[in-house]
Amino acid sequence: APAPAPAPALVPTHCPYCALQCGMNLRGSGETVEVVERDDFPVNRGALCGKGRTAPAVLSSRVRLTGPLVRRPATGRLEPATWEEALRVTADGLRRTRARHGADAVGVFGGGGLTNEKAYALGKFARVVLGTSQIDYNGRFCMSSAAAAHNKAFGLDRGLPFPLEDIPRTGCVLLVGSNLAETMPPALRYLTELKDNGGTLIVVDPRRTKTAEQADLHLAPRPGTDLALALGLLHLVVAQGRTDREFIRERTTGWEEARAAAMAHWPELVERITGVGVPRLREAAALFCDAPNAMVLTARGPEQQSKGTDTVGAWINLALATGNAGRPLAGYGCLTGQGNGQGGREHGQKADQLPGYRKLDDPAARAHVAGVWGVDPDSLPGPGRSAYELLDALGRDVRSLLLMGSNPVVSAPRAAHVEERLRSLDFLAVADVVLSETAELADVVLPVTQWAEETGTTTNLEGRVLLRRRALTPPPGVRSDLEVIHGLAGLLGHEKGFPTDPEEVFGELRRASSGGPADYAGISYRRLEEEQGVFWPCPEPGVPGQGAGMPGSGPRLEAGETGGPAREPGTGAGQTGGPAREPAMEAGQTGGPAGEPHPGTPRLFLDRFATPDGRARFVPVVHREAAEPTDAEYPVVLTTGRVVAQYQSGAQTRRVDELNAAAPGPFVQLHPQLAARVGVADGEPVAVVSRRGRAVAPARVSEAIRPDTVFMPFHWPGAGRANTLTNPALDPTSRMPEFKVCAVRLERSQD
Ligand code: SF4
Repeated sequence: APAPAPAPALVPTHCPYCALQCGMNLRGSGETVEVVERDDFPVNRGALCGKGRTAPAVLSSRVRLTGPLVRRPATGRLEPATWEEALRVTADGLRRTRARHGADAVGVFGGGGLTNEKAYALGKFARVVLGTSQIDYNGRFCMSSAAAAHNKAFGLDRGLPFPLEDIPRTGCVLLVGSNLAETMPPALRYLTELKDNGGTLIVVDPRRTKTAEQADLHLAPRPGTDLALALGLLHLVVAQGRTDREFIRERTTGWEEARAAAMAHWPELVERITGVGVPRLREAAALFCDAPNAMVLTARGPEQQSKGTDTVGAWINLALATGNAGRPLAGYGCLTGQGNGQGGREHGQKADQLPGYRKLDDPAARAHVAGVWGVDPDSLPGPGRSAYELLDALGRDVRSLLLMGSNPVVSAPRAAHVEERLRSLDFLAVADVVLSETAELADVVLPVTQWAEETGTTTNLEGRVLLRRRALTPPPGVRSDLEVIHGLAGLLGHEKGFPTDPEEVFGELRRASSGGPADYAGISYRRLEEEQGVFWPCPEPGVPGQGAGMPGSGPRLEAGETGGPAREPGTGAGQTGGPAREPAMEAGQTGGPAGEPHPGTPRLFLDRFATPDGRARFVPVVHREAAEPTDAEYPVVLTTGRVVAQYQSGAQTRRVDELNAAAPGPFVQLHPQLAARVGVADGEPVAVVSRRGRAVAPARVSEAIRPDTVFMPFHWPGAGRANTLTNPALDPTSRMPEFKVCAVRLERSQD
């Protein structure tokens, strides 16, 4: 008898969705792909949420794009086209705009789900091929306020400066504006283990979420007032003599100004601003200070505000004042949202950055990256508009747009206006895996490969660089984003410099990032295959530690070393080495002799912070109102967020039957008192009206929300689109829109 066919191999890879980047195994081919538990990956130890478990459904030809589409003038409709035509029409559209209106009339919009290689290639394509400064990405809407606050306080932005595994071993976690029980369910175990170990969990959220239900103490401030809440807690810490004077003296600067700002926010005033009573403030301060070690973790709640940078800064001040930073099992961290939210902001698709988290307006950074790219530094454009400002300029200053991996028609603030701006473009090309609401508006739609069909790296919320492996052969009608960029670059006169092999792109990314704050020079695909990820900074072999942002930490792989293939550790021919670096940031880590791979840096700041003087910086901040306070006409606060069964704009997850059954559409969560005032019962349609528009969805009446606040998830387009209502008021530093707070009124709806 013939031997049975061998079972398809299991391919270890990672989930395509959120920043936890859970490990999973894939098995199968074609339309039958199975997710198999992968328990060797420490972050999730085999656990997956429903989104990850059902991710293969989006690989099905039933829901995905399988060939390019071009809008035909005769019909006005998107119709099938060859790849050659689709790329030619796209290149012509971008070229025509540049010729008529200049390079900055061409925009590029990326996504926090793109791999590091794609983000890198897209940024290089914009600046080298198109010569435009107008590139930004949807990660601006995600964690940019935390990134700005990180940089201000610590001189370096990595979401978590410690691994997740440290969380259960600290004494207290103060979790601000995160509903991780729904956004990344496998991460909840870090909090339950914390409690099992005797630790304390304090959750700050205007709603009693599934995460808040786990808390020892839940504080529910009015949305947009958690800056005042942090100041009030710091006031109590100072008043009760619970600051860590030695830590403040030895490892920080700026305390007196921050202290004075906090002392102006006495508890009774904070109670009036936030709605959180003084006894609960005192209880929170005591729980936090009584713990031998404590962590403050923030997510979108405090960050998506027009004062998000200052709000995160206030929470960092609390951690610094109590000595909870720069030592093991303590610190401040941000729980990044999108799958490659961390890596996506490090490698050049952000308006003000070059690869390696270098700043675009830094002459040394420009010279280094230009050397890697083989171009004149003076030819590189300067910083461009931030994401919302770029979208707002469409059809006016920016006339053509190439968009990759984003769906702003659903996810951008003031979405009806953004949709109108997209419609007014001279030319729009969208690369995506499905016909999203934004792709529906395009002149050209470029169908691209998905996570399981391509190899690439992502960087999870811990700063752990991971390898997603190709497990499946993509359908014949799709191409990878790297192939799209390569094809367009060639048609626009750059045949070289845009390889399609992800490992080759990663090799160049390593050289471009070398010596920068997010240094990947010592990371190779081979290491990522052999290890469970590598934490950046990871300089090239033989360089002890990492001096990110510190004096004398210039580029090590010099600009001239640009031509060769990616170097594996230990083969650094032509490397210049460089001056001795600061001591390693990982306790006990000494780098290693020349030729030894750097181990990566799971824990930052243990010896020094990444500021010029090595000290963390207190930033004095004061409370201010939301950009749009409530008034007689709009008396209720709207806040937005996510539900467990959908992901971001829902472009992928709304196409999965199981997820749609669990979360079929939007809703308006409101307190029974508010529901009674409006006159709506549970399940009845209710209209939410802001100065920007109107959305209608069924009421979900619940005591788990403040009576002065309503909540809407933002995953859906159409009549229930939450972002029709949201306010694009921007944080002055991070340019983050105020998704989390706007003024609305509620009406009974006949819709
Ligand atoms: Fe894990 Fe996030 Fe994927 Fe869920 S969506 S399986 S939490 S990576």
